[in-house]
Order: sequence, then structure tokens, then C-alpha cells
Amino acid sequence: MKKYKIVIFLGPPGSGKGTQAALLCKKLGYEYIGSGDLLRARTKIKDYTGKKIKETIDQGKRIPTPVIFKIWMDRLESFRNKKNLKGFVIDGSPRTVSEAEMLEQALEWYGWNKNKKVFFINIPLKEIVNRLTKRKICSKCGRIIPYFGALNNLKKCDKCGGKLVKRADDNLRGVQERLRWFKSEVLPMVEYYKKKKMIIDVNGDKPIEKVAEEILRKLGK
Ligand SMILES: [Zn+2]
Repeated sequence: MKKYKIVIFLGPPGSGKGTQAALLCKKLGYEYIGSGDLLRARTKIKDYTGKKIKETIDQGKRIPTPVIFKIWMDRLESFRNKKNLKGFVIDGSPRTVSEAEMLEQALEWYGWNKNKKVFFINIPLKEIVNRLTKRKICSKCGRIIPYFGALNNLKKCDKCGGKLVKRADDNLRGVQERLRWFKSEVLPMVEYYKKKKMIIDVNGDKPIEKVAEEILRKLGK
């Protein structure tokens, strides 16, 4: 059995945790579990919840915990039944202390309470605002294009060719609202993991490849 199976990425909005999660999955052959992707996929089912999720995202509002967790548990179940699972990376959850507690219980349910690493990717406040107000999102596949290096010159989505647009809540007011949420909800959750001595700090204020190197090193890979 390999030593590390579950990697959780935490960080302020714009810290690049989604990018790092995807890179790590590619590098190590891990599965990816991200709330953004899961929710987008769920909107394809046109039942009550599918439609309501779409509506809620379009209004720039947050999806409540029970709805996210139902989708999450289904995904974890599919991982559990997979042969040769090497590991998986969690991106975009937990968002609050209660979600962290639920996630811990869920992982324990599946026998995954060991072999877990929690990374906190941090960047300075000024950089958060800069990255969030300038980044773009693919209108077709939902890929977030970070405002970083060569990516700034992209005219179309580098994955599917879709049109790049700005996210509705990536204006200054939206960013300030998300930072307030980050301080009041997310940071106490980071503290929760800190108290358990589970947080590994990563400096996210450098080129994407350098951040990826730091993560791999701290993972012991
Ligand atoms: Zn795309």
C-alpha cells in the first residue's frame, strides 16, 4: 500500500488550488474530486436539484452543505468500489468547520482516515484580489484560466476552444464578499485542521511549476 492516498487542498480564493489539484492528479494518477466540477455535472440531470443548482450558481450563491455532501458521498462511494485506486485529491471542500467534520467522518466511513495530507496554499491579500479580478472562465467547459504568466494571453479555452468570459462574481465587490466568507468560514476550518496538526503550508505566490514542486516535495514524492 502506498503511503499517501488522500490529498486535500485548502486556500483562499485565487490561490491556485484547483490548478495544483489537477496537476497532482495528472502527475500521480490520482482521482480528482472537486465541488465545482461535481456541481456542474449535476446540473446536466434536469430534476429539481439539478435545476436548482444551476439557478443557485447563476445567482452567484453558495450551494448548501447537504446538497454538496450527497454528491460527494456518491463520488467517494465510486472511488471505494474502484480497483487499483492510487489516491484522490479533494479540491473546493471542505468550506466550513462543520463540512470538515463531516468530511472526516465520511473518510472514516470508507476506511480512509489515515494516509491523508492537507495542504494550505497561501498567497498575499493583494495577489488574491489581482488574480480574481483578472482571471477568466471557459463558458463551455467551466475551466478556470488563472491570471498567471502565459495564460494571460489565451484567447480561447486551451482545453476545448470555448469562449473565455469573466465569472459573474469576479468583480471587486464579489471578491470582497468572497474574502469576507473566507475569513468568517474558511479560516476557522483551516484552524480546525491546524489544531489536529494536519496542515502543511505551501507558498502559492510563485510560478505554478514551482508551487507544484513544493507540493510534491512535501508529499514525499
Ligand atoms: Zn473549455
